[in-house]
Amino acid sequence: MRTPPKPRKRFGQNFLQDGRVIQRIVTALAPRPGDHVVEIGPGRGALTRHLLDRCRRLDVVEIDRDLTVLLRERFATAANLIVHEADALAFDFDALTAPGEKLKVVGNLPYNISTPLLFHLFGQQAVIAQMLFMLQKEVVERLAATPGSKTYGRLSVMAQYHCRIEKCFNVKPACFQPPPKVMSAVVRLTPHPRPPVEVGAYGLFETVVAKAFGQRRKTLRNALRGLLEADAIAACGVDPTARAETLPLESFAALSRTLYSRHP
Ligand code: SAM
Repeated sequence: MRTPPKPRKRFGQNFLQDGRVIQRIVTALAPRPGDHVVEIGPGRGALTRHLLDRCRRLDVVEIDRDLTVLLRERFATAANLIVHEADALAFDFDALTAPGEKLKVVGNLPYNISTPLLFHLFGQQAVIAQMLFMLQKEVVERLAATPGSKTYGRLSVMAQYHCRIEKCFNVKPACFQPPPKVMSAVVRLTPHPRPPVEVGAYGLFETVVAKAFGQRRKTLRNALRGLLEADAIAACGVDPTARAETLPLESFAALSRTLYSRHP
């Protein structure tokens, strides 16, 4: 059996070495024998081996060629495992599914790409039943944040538009090899079957949210200058002198609908 290559920082490689944490992730994912599971960034297979005999099919997406070679060797006899040597940021998850099928997606994600990866997955959530990810704890807090809290921002609003967010548990650096410099946490994201609010056009909603949080300390009137005037903001039931971090999802949706009614 080949010796594993040294962890590569540029791929965010911090390998899980705590069996209890691995078990808690598997329990939280709760794969069923008929499930089609996708693991992002399987690394040396710490989680992979516990998923294999609990689901019907397991696709793993790993960018590091040395690790895909290792995984193919390690799990050579697993008939239900498909190893993809690919960049998860450009991966077509939709292409893995049969008509009507939904995936469970899991992973101890590389922290350096977690936000763009989440957005990539939001774009394909029609084929995803559930996502369970290990992320930097601070990112999990931002995903789950409520209006008015310090961590509430663009990521919170966009993630909550797409998914129900549940923080599961924290994980200490010592559970990884090498230990990361930050605390980690596991989070469950369950895509909404239908968007929770009407936004008119998704692209406009994205723009409103990005602009509103672009300069956090500005009032909405100033942050949205050129997009919506103060009286149009007020007509949405939103105080133009408020700041984005105090606004619930529904208010961003109302602003986006107004913009859409002007530029359908
Ligand atoms: N799941 C393993 C574990 O828990 O021990 C490894 C987790 S490690 C934090 C992240 C893994 O994602 C590494 O194996 C790394 O090579 C892989 N990775 C990094 N960037 C990636 C990308 N863009 N697409 C797919 N895999 C990636």
